[in-house]
Amino acid sequence: MKKIQMVDLKGQYEEIKDTVNSSILEVIDSTAFINGPKVHEFQKKLEDYLGVKHVIPCANGTDALQIAMMGLGLKPGDEVITADFTFAATVEVIALLGLTPVLVDVEPDTFNIDINAIKKAITPNTKAIVPVHLFGQCANMDAIMDIAKEHNLYVIEDNAQAIGATYTSEDGTKQKAGTIGHVASTSFFPSKNLGCYGDGGAIFTNNDDLAHTIRGIVNHGMYRRYYHDVVGVNSRLDSMQAAVLNAKLPKLDAYNESRKEAASKYDEAFKGIDNITTPFRNGADDNHVFHQYTLKITNGKRDALVEHLNANGIPCGVYYPVPLHLQEAYKDSRYNEADFTVTNQLIKEVISLPMHTELDDEQIAFITSTVINFVNG
Ligand SMILES: *Cc1c(COP(=O)(O)O)cnc(C)c1O
Repeated sequence: MKKIQMVDLKGQYEEIKDTVNSSILEVIDSTAFINGPKVHEFQKKLEDYLGVKHVIPCANGTDALQIAMMGLGLKPGDEVITADFTFAATVEVIALLGLTPVLVDVEPDTFNIDINAIKKAITPNTKAIVPVHLFGQCANMDAIMDIAKEHNLYVIEDNAQAIGATYTSEDGTKQKAGTIGHVASTSFFPSKNLGCYGDGGAIFTNNDDLAHTIRGIVNHGMYRRYYHDVVGVNSRLDSMQAAVLNAKLPKLDAYNESRKEAASKYDEAFKGIDNITTPFRNGADDNHVFHQYTLKITNGKRDALVEHLNANGIPCGVYYPVPLHLQEAYKDSRYNEADFTVTNQLIKEVISLPMHTELDDEQIAFITSTVINFVNG
């Protein structure tokens, strides 16, 4: 059996090696390292793929979130509601901009932001909601857009984990994740569903004015060379990363299909097994692109299982071991533990198994039998 990896970047590279190598060499040969034609090519291709008017590439997914919030003109004192159960980048940029993060609980089945918790957290100072499409599954965007409309709030989708997912609304409309809110961010970190070979990110929006503002912000607040109209940042996708992404974007749907296939095989093996809850699929098949395959182990053996898997050469991850509202950096006396019953439970139960585009049946059989035998052994 091939060595099992959490993410198999090498195996994936082997398949596209010639295209990637020649594309990177072209960049070096052209010396157009910053804002070169490869970046523009990627921007256009991604706009077409997503069906969104504007893609603004930037340096990473964390910057993308920050720049989206800067572009919306959010100001200190503004409250931004986001999920307690996500990667810290989401809340980090809110705090960094001097905005007030308001963390709320998530749903026990999808792990995505809880709609009633959002409603409960809204105050006259609330300006935006940041849903995270966690582990590759779209949050309940219909309900979130309704709340936003009613209370006049911005919706910033953190789409770092769900690029390529398609959200189906109650009326049957289909839209790509990251094109539904006012603005969205994504990450091309190597292990993400569309990863480059270093750092990379992008912002998406259908709003022309916002896109214009953001294009200036990513480049030192310049709209004309050496005229700085607003305070900006230096956040660019470099041409070598764009070269990699140009080679990988045409494969994104196939990559996501491979992830979904692996997820179905895991589901099948764990079906009906006590003490193991497989990932809940909310809605249509395309709604989840399995950035992670995350089980709940409900008999208290999660930590022991992590050790057992590692001892048996099976990598795994606990995303996330500490809820954001209990992190040293984001504690706030306004939070009440009774409002976080779901995240406080999830951190004890979740475990993510190897998930990538190169998993084979033999590996999946070994992983699932090792998990089942240990949890119920
Ligand atoms: C990866 C990730 C980010 C940050 O992306 P970087 O490119 O690593 O800065 C933000 N939010 C979520 C939910 C992520 O998973």
